[in-house]
Amino acid sequence: KEELNIIQGALELRTKTVEDVLTPLTDCFMLASDEVLDFNTMSDIMQSGYTRIPVYENERSNIVDILFVKDLAFVDPDDCTPLKTITQFYRHPLHCVFNDTKLDAMLEEFKKGKSHLAIVQRVNNEGEGDPFYEVLGIITLEDVIEEIIKSEILDE
Ligand code: ADP
Repeated sequence: KEELNIIQGALELRTKTVEDVLTPLTDCFMLASDEVLDFNTMSDIMQSGYTRIPVYENERSNIVDILFVKDLAFVDPDDCTPLKTITQFYRHPLHCVFNDTKLDAMLEEFKKGKSHLAIVQRVNNEGEGDPFYEVLGIITLEDVIEEIIKSEILDE
């Protein structure tokens, strides 16, 4: 029975989209690009418990970098290093996907191993102005895996 549920979850990867399972931008733990890696900021990062932290410029919808917590291994909080120094040193690539990407395609992308976190955007053509890309949130490999496992948890 459990196997059946997992198979069901796996089959649903073909119909569900990243928009169905993403972590909304408002719930994301992020840092502003002009922050300084002092003791307070570094302990906030540690307390958040996340391994990858989007970095935004000016507004939260404008993600410009990803900080990996492991990038902080050689950072001394007493040095008050600007966050930019670290992000510009590592320059982790940003991986963006559209909101209508199916979860099976997303899983294949993640399996390629470039990054296990992607930024989800959509084309916003509501309203008067020109269409623009709107960031909705982030999705990680774990969100996709959970989608396979969840049907198992719900049904038990
Ligand atoms: P981590 O390794 O940081 O725990 P996972 O990839 O295991 O992250 O994802 C766990 C959950 O946390 C997923 O639902 C993912 O969308 C979410 N998540 C990952 N990074 C962040 C972040 N910086 N802020 C908010 N949620 C996040």
